[in-house]
This record gives sequence, structure tokens and C-alpha cells, in this order.
Amino acid sequence: MPRPVAERWFERQRIDDDVTLLWEPHVDRLIRCNIWHVRGRDADLLVDTGLGIVSLAEAARDLFDKPVIAVATHTHYDHIGGLHEFAHRLVHRAEAAGMTDFRDFATLRSADIEAAILAGLRAAGFAQADELVTAYPHAGFDVGAYRIVSTAPTRIVDQGDLVDLGDRRFEVLHLPGHSPGSLGLWEAASGTLFSGDAIYDGYLIDDLPTSDVAYYVRTMRRLRELPVRTVHGGHKPSFGRERLIAIVDDYLRRKGAA
Ligand SMILES: [Zn+2]
Ligand SMILES: [Zn+2]
Repeated sequence: MPRPVAERWFERQRIDDDVTLLWEPHVDRLIRCNIWHVRGRDADLLVDTGLGIVSLAEAARDLFDKPVIAVATHTHYDHIGGLHEFAHRLVHRAEAAGMTDFRDFATLRSADIEAAILAGLRAAGFAQADELVTAYPHAGFDVGAYRIVSTAPTRIVDQGDLVDLGDRRFEVLHLPGHSPGSLGLWEAASGTLFSGDAIYDGYLIDDLPTSDVAYYVRTMRRLRELPVRTVHGGHKPSFGRERLIAIVDDYLRRKGAA
């Protein structure tokens, strides 16, 4: 069935003076990640870059009036499609090689997802249709030709490294479990955490081939101790500390680790 052509590909919402959320409204919720832009004094921070179906660098050009430090919270395809467009590209050590030479799964078609995994996703309300897009960026868009562009990180980061915007400083937290190189960006001064897919207020995925439940449990226990005020996740709406504790405790209970 032919899809409508979207008038614009990215939506955005100003969260506060410095933080803007961007997202791709015409893609299935499964692969609709949050793209966070943080305005700094000397540089801007971009946390994840979406699917790369349409150029993020062009669509959000008005936001980028300084050098942009683009960080991949991890290298699942819905988070890194636009990474190659930016001059500064940060990836955790554990997933750097996989970004330089991207061979991981990436598709806009439900049929390409392994049957058992797709059944689980569909039970959770995702990927109900054949295609994972509900509109096309232009007429004649070829869903089957979708690819991720490999790109080498310009800076490989690890636990404790700092991302400095001049007036704001974020510490890299290594948060494995969902994926080996999942990271969060923690600003202690404001109690703000950009958490990627390590934690968000929704269905958390820990059963991918590269997921690790034991690591995930450890990550959750660690997040529970963090004095957060605001969590901006890789999917779904932002939340505060009380909700974080509830999500963590629910996860630990389900894994028999409470
Ligand atoms: Zn992910
Ligand atoms: Zn994700």
C-alpha cells in the first residue's frame, strides 16, 4: 500500500532554555528514538541521531550554531542513522568497532525481524504493520534500500570520561545490559541524566542477542543510587527520580533480583 508523503520528517519540542527534543513521528514506536539537543556555551550536545532516513543535520540546521558533539548512547540503528553527518562522533569503547563497520541489524520492514522476536514485539504493541514507517520522506521512497552509513567515532569514550560544553559538563556512565556499550550522560550539577535505552518509561528490551540481563541488573542497581532530578531517555517521555526508582524496582522484581 502506498504511504503518504510526510510534509516534514522531524518534530521538535523545546523542553527548557537549552534542551530541545526531536523525534521522527512517521516511524513505528519501536524505532522512534528521542534525539536530544543541548545548547552549551562553546559547543552543543546531540544525544542520538535517529534513523538517518532524512538528514538531521539539514532538518535541524537552525539549532546547530556551534560545533556539535554527537553522542551515540549505543549503536542500535534507530539511534545512530544520522551520526555520520556530524564532525564530532562519540561512541563507547564496547561498540566503537561496530559503528566503524556497521553490520548489525537495520530494517524498516517487520518481516526482516526474526519471527520469535517479532511475536514478542507485537504482543507488546510494536511493529503491527508490514512496514515500520507510516509515511515516506518523498515519493518513490524505497523502504528496502534503507541502510545505516558506517562511520568511525572521532572519540571513543568510557566510564568517567567528560563531555564538556564550556558551561555544562556531562560525565559518561557506562550502563551495559540493553547493549554492551550503552552509555548515559550525567550532569551532576543539574541532576540530569540522558539515559539512552538503559532506562526509559516503557517496555525495556533485554533479550536481544547482545543484551545481558546480569549486567542490566547491575546497571539498574547503580541507577537507583543516582541522585537524579530528570531522566531524558532514549524513548518515551522524561521522568523524575520517583519514577526511576519504580521502573528499577519493577525490573529487579521481574528478574528475581529485588
Ligand atoms: Zn536500543
Ligand atoms: Zn532504542
